[in-house]
Parts: sequence; C-alpha cells; structure tokens
Amino acid sequence: MDFKIIEKDGVKVVKFKRIEEIPFVRHGFSTRIGGVSPEPFNQLNLGRLTPDSPHNIIENTKRFSKAVGVNFDDLVASDQVHKDQVKVVTAEDKGKGFTRDMDFDSIDALITNERGVPLITYFADCVPLLMVDPHQKAVGLAHAGWSGTVLKIGQKTVMKMLEEYQSRLEDIIVVIGPSIGQCCYEVSEDVVEKFNMNFTDTSTFVIAKDGGKYMLDLWEANRVALKEIGIQDRNIVKSRICTGCNTDLYFSHRFEKGNTGRMASIIEIIL
Ligand SMILES: [Zn+2]
Repeated sequence: MDFKIIEKDGVKVVKFKRIEEIPFVRHGFSTRIGGVSPEPFNQLNLGRLTPDSPHNIIENTKRFSKAVGVNFDDLVASDQVHKDQVKVVTAEDKGKGFTRDMDFDSIDALITNERGVPLITYFADCVPLLMVDPHQKAVGLAHAGWSGTVLKIGQKTVMKMLEEYQSRLEDIIVVIGPSIGQCCYEVSEDVVEKFNMNFTDTSTFVIAKDGGKYMLDLWEANRVALKEIGIQDRNIVKSRICTGCNTDLYFSHRFEKGNTGRMASIIEIIL
C-alpha cells in the first residue's frame, strides 16, 4: 500500500508514503472522521461552500490542521472553478482564505517553495494531485475533476514549478490521491468527446458501456497527461482509493448526490 491512515485526537488523516519519506514536507488528506458536523456533512466537512454552519467548518479545519501539524492561521486556500490556473504562493499570502480575504480567484492549483506556507485544496470525488520536488524543495497541490483533467492541470502545475523553481522533470513526484475510481465513475458521451479532443489515445482510461455511457478512469487520465511531459513512471503514485466505494471514510459527491461534505489536502514545506 502506498498510503497509511493515522489517527490524531480522533481525526483520521491519509498519509502517502512517497511524501512521508521526504523530511522537509508535511502533508495529509482528510477523511470524514473526527469532525463536528451533523448529517449529511458528518463529520469532518471542510467545504466552505457547502450549506453547513461556518462555525463547524472552521472547527473542522482547525482539527484537520492540528492533526496534520500545520498552523491553521497560515493556511492558503484555492477557490477551485474547474479550470487550469496555477497560483504561485509566497509568505505574503499566508492566511488568505481564512484569517484574511482571498485577493485572487479562479485558481485550481497552488505551488510554493517557501517554508511555513501550508497550502490547502478541496475535494469530494475530484482528483487531488500532490506534487513534491525533493531537490529544489518545492510543493504543489492541484484539483483535477474531469474538466481539470481534460485541461491537463497536472501538467500545467508541474510546468509552472519548472519555470518558477528551476525544478527538473525527473525529480518531480506526483501522488494521485483519493477520488472517484473507474469502478464508480460513469460519464456520458460529451465528456468522453472532450477527452478525445485533448488526448491522443483515451483507450487506456475509457471503457464503453451499453446505452452511450462510459466508465472513466481519472487516475489513469492524469497519469497519461503527466507521462506526456516526461514525469517518470516511478514518480507517479496512484493511491487507488475510490471515494465512491468508501463513503464510510470519504465524502463522495456522486454517491451522496451532491448532498455531502468536502475533504481537503494540505501540504507544507517545514524545513
Ligand atoms: Zn469505486
């Protein structure tokens, strides 16, 4: 297994082995366990745009931050509009989205090479991409639903790290976090057409079913997009956790018909 689930003060957090091995990075992906929200947001809902009480969402975010070991007051959030814009985050941005207003918008990916600047992005079925460059000491987080995957947001985030931090492609590690698996992700023809327009070969991640429906593998589509620019096979890690199959532990937008909470991923450079 490429991950483990730890529990701290009742909060369950997913940790990815490839990132745990890197001493200068602190990270985690939340589950729904260990928060204060009532149904249907039970328990650890972090989604600020859900109709849960803001008090619960803040309390849950504080608990998750504490369990990961980052300072809640310093969190920098993205607003996530299913596009492909990447924001370069610096110490100047600390607290934006929490203790201070966000002065940016339409951001689906965050990168930083500064210490003590925890990044946070939100998910419930969409694919979390966690990036680390262990040599240049840089990290990134991207939100790839099907739209972001079509737009190859993973590629764009990595390319931005190359441009900003002089990262080398062969050094970049990308973890594909908990999200909806092909087992649970049926889509219609129009979605598949968009993939056909942007990918030369979709046969490794689209399976046709009867009735004009398809099963889409977003993990593999993201892997293919990362491979296209030259990320090494050994550096692309699929966690293979399907949120749809595991609603006891994760929120699933699709399986709970939109009436559910949001999880989040945090990553921070600490040394
Ligand atoms: Zn599944």
